[in-house]
Amino acid sequence: MRPADDVSKHFRLIPAQLSALRRLGIVTIEDLMRHFPARYDVAGTSTNVKALVPGTKVTLYGKLSGLKAKKLWKSKRNATEGFFEDASGRVKVMWFNQPYMASYVSEGNVVKVTGTVGGKADRPYITNPEVEIVSKEVAISAETGLFTDPDAKDAPAPTIYAVYPETAGVTSLWFRHAIERLFKAGIEKLLIDPVPADVRKRYNLPDLAEALVYIHAPEKAAHAEAARKRFAFEEIFAIQAARAQERAENDSQSSFPIGDATEHASTFLESVPFPATGAQERAITDILADFTKPHPMARLLEGDVGSGKTLVAAAAAYAVVTSRPPNRNSGTLQVAYMAPTEILAGQHFQSFIEYFKDLPINIGLMTGSGCKKFPSKVSKGGATDISRAQLLKWIANGEIAMLIGTHALIQKSVTFQHLALAIVDEQHRFGTRQRRALAHKGDTAPHFLSMTATPIPRTLALTMYGDLDISLLDELPPGRAKITTKIIKPKERGQAYAAVRAELVKGRQAYVICPRINEPDPAKINAMQARSAKAEAKRLQEEVFPEYDVGLLHGAMTPKERDAVMKDFSDNKVQILVATSVVEVGINVPNATAIIIEGAERFGLAQLHQLRGRIMRSSHPPYCFLLPESAGEMSGKRLKTLEKSDDGFKLAESDLEARGAGDLFGRRQWGMSDLGMEALKNVKLIRAARDEAERVIREDPELLDNAALRERAFKAGAELHNE
Ligand code: ADP
Ligand code: MG
Repeated sequence: MRPADDVSKHFRLIPAQLSALRRLGIVTIEDLMRHFPARYDVAGTSTNVKALVPGTKVTLYGKLSGLKAKKLWKSKRNATEGFFEDASGRVKVMWFNQPYMASYVSEGNVVKVTGTVGGKADRPYITNPEVEIVSKEVAISAETGLFTDPDAKDAPAPTIYAVYPETAGVTSLWFRHAIERLFKAGIEKLLIDPVPADVRKRYNLPDLAEALVYIHAPEKAAHAEAARKRFAFEEIFAIQAARAQERAENDSQSSFPIGDATEHASTFLESVPFPATGAQERAITDILADFTKPHPMARLLEGDVGSGKTLVAAAAAYAVVTSRPPNRNSGTLQVAYMAPTEILAGQHFQSFIEYFKDLPINIGLMTGSGCKKFPSKVSKGGATDISRAQLLKWIANGEIAMLIGTHALIQKSVTFQHLALAIVDEQHRFGTRQRRALAHKGDTAPHFLSMTATPIPRTLALTMYGDLDISLLDELPPGRAKITTKIIKPKERGQAYAAVRAELVKGRQAYVICPRINEPDPAKINAMQARSAKAEAKRLQEEVFPEYDVGLLHGAMTPKERDAVMKDFSDNKVQILVATSVVEVGINVPNATAIIIEGAERFGLAQLHQLRGRIMRSSHPPYCFLLPESAGEMSGKRLKTLEKSDDGFKLAESDLEARGAGDLFGRRQWGMSDLGMEALKNVKLIRAARDEAERVIREDPELLDNAALRERAFKAGAELHNE
């Protein structure tokens, strides 16, 4: 057996297992070795039927018998009843609204049952336990009632069991057995450690072989912990190495020199009817300083919704388009500005026209549905529709100094004459690869400015944007009306509707955010009783706001349908927009001043803050109503911080603290494992991994001396590019 071998070469796999493994990204023996447990079961917390204590959570191994589905006559609810038994005795179990339970397990299956004991000590029962079919070969120890591995008859029973992430098709037990075989074959000793020995020593991290044993088969909790820390470090270290390489690549390229940038930026700022905020000035200064360096700028501008990122972008853009290309006495350098949606591209186009209307600059708009140019010969102060072919020609010959658009901008057919600055709005919506595509149009690499309103904790920013310098807009322009955020009890939703109606009467608009698209599956009693966007839109239209037009926006719609609805909302043809969290990024409708967020406790604070940001765009006082479904203590406290604070970065930090990064952002969004996401709570680890990665790349930019790290860094880079 070798690490690079295909798993199917050494394990007899049925098709369902094979496809389950593929789904988990497991192809080779090494992949299998690196498939880590999600958690550990400590045998001591398992118990047997004889020892049940009401009110405690227990895990039992045994069999189910006498399962019968029936209907409760009073509540008309479906119920399944039966018994669970192990060597020590039996206990009544029941499930409500899970009629499939009886057909899911057949009698004789060995199952693991997890649930909370109810009833009295002499007559306990367990309601709605989770059931996992363990395996036919598993034996139940008559003595302890605990599950034991029949293959390990003589060995002392381990006290900690690895539990692998649940997947249909492969059980946790399968993984335990399979990985045991890998250890027997000594695979862990054949793998090369990507973390250099000196680094491991400095941070007291176990080496790869040891850590693999510790993580899969720990003898005590401290082993598992040490191993998890090591693998978290390794993951962050590999990502940082990839970032450091990208940064080094950036810094090895040359960019267009931008003459008199500071002077031109000041000219522009003086033409704007309001003074820049201190934070905007600092960001502009950062950018202007980057323009004096020989290599392209690589900067992230991070600022809450409404903090005025567009002005910063416009100042930078202005400085660029007022510069001549080198060795030329006509023409200007060019700017490309890419937005994630057509609506946003259109809005930026309008903002730029507004900022530059008195300045002699040609601005183009290119989206999938058409092209425009400003200024227009026919409509004074406005833009004209032009053909794509015409626009392409003007971009290529340099007549269009600024091009704003969507993904349409990075198509092969678009070639700039002198692209000197690329601006990307909400960059995490674009992959790094798309960023590159934009950057590599033309011979000289353009300066790159990425902008985001996603408030993310510092550790995540350092990791994900490790290749970018960061400017923070941590100050809102003056004169913004302060937002009122209120938590509304489910029974008092009428209050929220009354307040929304008061806004609508004044001619304003409102959002209603729902946590899911469709009605929840009624078969799952534990499924969250979320109000679905579709049903809610219908209800609000018919029963609550019949005199207004209610629109619907959700992620399952095509981009075209979405754009159409957003346009209706933006044109005030629709007054109430019911949406899932897809509105999080990107809509800018200053006339919307109220937002109702259903199931508020299901969102992260940072996400709620971003949703709330949708109505912080005008001088009218905005109102945000949070409607939690349950009055859980934790979520109550969490939501209260939102009532008090309107600092997105602080909220992101406290959310990270309270819930962990995985819950905060959606597990897959950043292409990191749960282990890596968890590590984001550990500032010291992130800094250490970053420092070490930068040092390693400085000494060996191509990682010629560390093939294992080179491969992992490459993978980390590639995964991030798949955003
Ligand atoms: P962001 O893109 O960061 O969410 P915008 O750039 O769209 O924010 O700016 C939000 C609003 O604030 C715009 O209407 C803009 O004209 C205004 N604005 C920007 N900077 C200032 C400032 N320094 N003073 C007053 N208003 C400003
Ligand atoms: Mg913006």
